[in-house]
Amino acid sequence: MQTHSLSSLQPWLKPYADWLVLAAPYAGARSVRITSVTRSRGRQRALYNRFLSGRAQFPAAPPGRSHHEYGLAWDMVTEPFSVLTTLGGWWKQLGGRWSPTDRIHFSVPIPIPWPTPPPYV
Ligand SMILES: [Zn+2]
Repeated sequence: MQTHSLSSLQPWLKPYADWLVLAAPYAGARSVRITSVTRSRGRQRALYNRFLSGRAQFPAAPPGRSHHEYGLAWDMVTEPFSVLTTLGGWWKQLGGRWSPTDRIHFSVPIPIPWPTPPPYV
């Protein structure tokens, strides 16, 4: 299972994610595409195995260790791709977590496992 809707984020996080997507044109984005939001443990395991095999374009955390499994992260791509660096800077100024080593990935500086198990795990 994998969603492409920001609605599967933790409810408190969604408004901030929505804001960043709406702000993307002001950073120069012609388009924004949400590529991954919340993932099941099984989906994360599959992505991690793909990453370990060297076939993944982007890094993946081990199962149980991804913010995606807790509704605390989403991936998106912009056209042009370089806009992600601007958006990452804005996201960090808001208190979010972002790294130039994984530019599509936006999350929050909250340790996981998330203290309260979410219903979709
Ligand atoms: Zn991600």
